[in-house]
Amino acid sequence: MEKRYRVLGSLAGLLLTGLTFADSPSPRTPLLVNKPITPAWAPLWDWEQPYSFDFQHRAIESLTGVRGVGSCCAEGVTHDGYALHLCFAPGTPPEYVEYISRLIFGDFLPAYNAGTRWSSTSYGSTGSRGNPIRLRWSFVPDGVQLPGLSGGSAPSNLFSSMNSKFGGNTTLWQNQFRNSFARWQQVAGVRYEEVSDDGAAFPNSGGSATAPRGDVRIGARNLDGANGVLAFNYFPNTGDMVLDSSESWQSSGGT
Ligand SMILES: [Zn+2]
Repeated sequence: MEKRYRVLGSLAGLLLTGLTFADSPSPRTPLLVNKPITPAWAPLWDWEQPYSFDFQHRAIESLTGVRGVGSCCAEGVTHDGYALHLCFAPGTPPEYVEYISRLIFGDFLPAYNAGTRWSSTSYGSTGSRGNPIRLRWSFVPDGVQLPGLSGGSAPSNLFSSMNSKFGGNTTLWQNQFRNSFARWQQVAGVRYEEVSDDGAAFPNSGGSATAPRGDVRIGARNLDGANGVLAFNYFPNTGDMVLDSSESWQSSGGT
């Protein structure tokens, strides 16, 4: 199999770097955080196509205002055999570059599964590996039977449990998901679109234009009580998620 570097790797590196900046006392500006895609459902950008590294470095500089992109990169091969190029912000501490590189390149438990990708979505074939893709996502209505950790199904209680935790403010908890998807599409070659969910059987009911439900469907039920497993997710092309409704997803202030 031909091994080639992928834009996804560089963008994953950017994401990780950006998150670290956001959590760090460093005064450096988080990458991309002030660069929202407007409108959210924007066309896929040319720079997301896998051109040369130099092209991508310059594109990232242009997009973020960060100079010197390309001076702090790492390369390696994932546990499943894919060569990746990770672009960190210039000046990223070498121990952090080392830590992330080991996570992705397999010195620790495999943390990056490059082989299990979306090959088909409700939009159809995703084309070649490394190309940007589009995904729909949805909240599963309460009552849809969801699998648990060890067989047996239970009705989803996403809405009732989250409403209880968030003071009856549905928009408040739903926006946490929307913000997450918005952030992902800022830093990865994926565009997300929220759609309604018709409550079809879960999982393995891929969305389509005529049967509104997401490629990624999110439901909740008790999994193992508080703590332990927080959620599980099916790999693509299923992609659905079950959250543990027994967790305290809200903050102490109910926000
Ligand atoms: Zn790079």
